[in-house]
Amino acid sequence: MSGPRGRLSALQRWYERSGRELPWRGERDPYRVWLREIMLQQTTVTAVVPYFQRFITAFPTVQSLAAADEMAVLRLWEGLGYYSRARNLHRAARQIVSELSEQFPSDAVALEALPGVGRYTAGAIASFAFDQRAAIIEANTLRLHARLIGYVGDPRSKDGQAELWSSAAEFVNAATPEFGPGAINQALMDLGATVCTPQSPRCPECPLQKWCVAFQAGQQNEIPRPVVRPVITEVTEATVAIHRRGEFLLRQRAPGERWAGLWDFPRYPVDDDAGVVGTIADGVRAQTGLTIALGDEIATFKHGVTRYRITLRCFAASVEKGRLHRDDSLRWVAPRDFPQFPLSVTGRKFAQRLTNPGLFDRLL
Ligand code: SF4
Repeated sequence: MSGPRGRLSALQRWYERSGRELPWRGERDPYRVWLREIMLQQTTVTAVVPYFQRFITAFPTVQSLAAADEMAVLRLWEGLGYYSRARNLHRAARQIVSELSEQFPSDAVALEALPGVGRYTAGAIASFAFDQRAAIIEANTLRLHARLIGYVGDPRSKDGQAELWSSAAEFVNAATPEFGPGAINQALMDLGATVCTPQSPRCPECPLQKWCVAFQAGQQNEIPRPVVRPVITEVTEATVAIHRRGEFLLRQRAPGERWAGLWDFPRYPVDDDAGVVGTIADGVRAQTGLTIALGDEIATFKHGVTRYRITLRCFAASVEKGRLHRDDSLRWVAPRDFPQFPLSVTGRKFAQRLTNPGLFDRLL
């Protein structure tokens, strides 16, 4: 057999023998499929597994997620990054419960209407949970299909996307009762992740070698065309733990800000080192109404956010005068209550540093 059926049979044989042993292999519950696929965006399988398990224990059904408080949802997402994913998940759960009679849509077009569900996630839920003939393209299959069809242009361009989705659709459209769309999509992702790897693809082991244009042309190392990496910009920020009677001031980050919805110690961009004290004092006064006496610099953390490498300088401060603005996004919080608040990763590190007994006693 050579044509599309031969290609599909070769993929099936490989998948049965060598597919990855993922914890969710064969999972058909749409809520669980949806949750893991949203978590897997921009995140590795290894990093996702413990988050998935904690999340599904806390919110075992779409109804329980819909009924949850956003703070609890963000707390369980803390550290995974791209927090808009968690907020959209929560909104979509509420939409499913309130507008869709608690039923997940089963076709990709209706799924794409849910907040945070793009073409890939819709295809994944439709094929894995409902065995619909819905194609998917994610990082591993983008590379795989680009090589299979020998696409030398930019695979992320409009034309490139059309070609790749069409290649993916050919596979699921050839599905059989024994090898359905969900299994086909999973097999293609597994093949991309383990054989058709970014560097040095293992073509001699590949079940699709016979049908691979890049392999025939010896172009497997040039396709897909590499992504132009954004230039990394170094920035400095300062954050301040303002304390008063054994509590610290936390601020909830506003919609439109990075990490919207998460809590953090007040934080400000710093233009130059010389002006850091004035920047913090002015920022705190404008944002909270408090005049502070800035104390020691306690720690410095470095972290990356998209195309920025941030050096975060962490200070302590006491309140000199002023009255805190009446604002629900500002709260005095005792250190024992820090675990209840979803914090940024560096906010959590700073919180842990502050609760170190030696430092805590010295500060308060
Ligand atoms: Fe990828 Fe090589 Fe297989 Fe082509 S033959 S799909 S380049 S692993």
